[in-house]
Amino acid sequence: MATRRRALRLLAELLFPRSCVACGAGLADEMLEAGLPGGMEELGPPLCQACVKSLCSICPPRCAACGRGLISESGLCMGCRGRDWSFDEAYPLFEYEGSFRSILGAYKFRERRSLAPFLASLAASAITARWPGRTLVPVPPRPGKLRAKGWDQVELIARQLERGGIRVARVLERLPSAQQKRLGLEARSANASAAYRLKPGARLPRAIVLLDDVITTGATAEACCSALREGGATELAVLALAAD
Ligand SMILES: [Zn+2]
Ligand SMILES: [Zn+2]
Repeated sequence: MATRRRALRLLAELLFPRSCVACGAGLADEMLEAGLPGGMEELGPPLCQACVKSLCSICPPRCAACGRGLISESGLCMGCRGRDWSFDEAYPLFEYEGSFRSILGAYKFRERRSLAPFLASLAASAITARWPGRTLVPVPPRPGKLRAKGWDQVELIARQLERGGIRVARVLERLPSAQQKRLGLEARSANASAAYRLKPGARLPRAIVLLDDVITTGATAEACCSALREGGATELAVLALAAD
């Protein structure tokens, strides 16, 4: 049943007139402007020009470790002082708020998969500018998620990037564990480090960019990077679409 409903939703997204996922404005005008393209690929992201223009990435200065915007601090944010992350730097592209929160929410929770190429293009620009030539390692989904839901939001972006020529190594796996969201911060950190490990026999490149969708406490990035470092990676960056 659930599969059928998902299929219908995807079909509806293809067949019915599109509206901007961030503000709800109709996109008919912009489609006409683009000259009534023939295929979905040519339609671009389901976003109006105004919302694309209103997206602003996290402005410098940023924390040198977690990449969040700094207000009165310099160098490191309060949360990163005295912390020893396993990654060299994290780089979230946007704050998880405003129109970017709507976009990512539509993608993750309402399964607007047609946003994947747009999100992947944002990630690709950052990778090319900051870490050219590095191998991407996506944060793996819960075990069984791909089978149960048919997709994973990070994996779909990784596939787009792979198609665009970026090397992707799926070397991590996530162990079955209690739902992390229900746990408190401390329990969450301990739980996260137990939740990821290298796949048996995985061969690691030396320099890696870990890809996640939203960085919240940093516990997931830390757990993944600590496993990658133990496995021999020496240069580790974390790219997240947003920081919450
Ligand atoms: Zn809009
Ligand atoms: Zn920080």
